[in-house]
Amino acid sequence: RLDLRNIVKRFGASSVVDDISLTVAAGQITCLLGPSGCGKSTTLRIVAGVERQDAGEIYLDNRLVCGPGTHVPPEQRSIGLMFQDFALFPHLTAAQNVAFGLTGAKAENRARAHDLLERVGLSAFAEKYPHELSGGEQQRVALVRAIAPKPKVMLMDEPFSGLDNRLRDGIRDETLSVLKEEGTAVLLVTHEPDEAMRMADEIALMRDGKIVQRGNPYNIYNAPVDKAAAAFFSDIN
Ligand code: ATP
Ligand code: MG
Repeated sequence: RLDLRNIVKRFGASSVVDDISLTVAAGQITCLLGPSGCGKSTTLRIVAGVERQDAGEIYLDNRLVCGPGTHVPPEQRSIGLMFQDFALFPHLTAAQNVAFGLTGAKAENRARAHDLLERVGLSAFAEKYPHELSGGEQQRVALVRAIAPKPKVMLMDEPFSGLDNRLRDGIRDETLSVLKEEGTAVLLVTHEPDEAMRMADEIALMRDGKIVQRGNPYNIYNAPVDKAAAAFFSDIN
């Protein structure tokens, strides 16, 4: 379970994240949805611990990971990350990349890596190096690498961007089913309403650093809080 309480982040005079509070329960997917520049990635980076907030606290399973006087470093937060600028280790094969963060026995890790790669249609690529893979294939490897250690909390920033439509639906479904199986709390950032509609248990609609509306996809779509929210959703068909 992930808890954000009154998070504020300023760059110069402007509050890019302006008093964001939100909760993601285990097994639940919350989408931070909003137009470009509204503060989604900054919020996610603060949760990850790679950016410091100016005010507010974050709790992971009731443990304070950042707040006044407390800053647990990113690698000690047991959070899975899948960011826009994902990078695979160039000197490791796809399977080795996926197995990298796993703490089990070697054979067990290998088996899990191969199983996950198979689920996203990459069995044939397990022994290939990143430079031998297309961008979309690398992205799928990065996705399963993020999922592999079964983190309790997963942060995803536009994880499916750049994949073609046909591939994207399959990868989304597969990712969702793995995350649901593991009971992971997922905070997913997207600027695409239809992605949030498909993926989210709850949508937090952001604008200018604030959450302007929260609710399940059905309610957000059918009862937008204002004209701007309605307009934002109007290009879904
Ligand atoms: P997108 O959908 O385009 O990825 P976003 O909602 O993720 O947008 P952020 O990356 O969180 O937006 O950026 C929010 C605002 O903060 C933007 O106006 C951006 O220019 C500004 N910003 C982000 N990082 C910094 C920084 N290090 N210094 C100054 N301004 C920043
Ligand atoms: Mg962003």
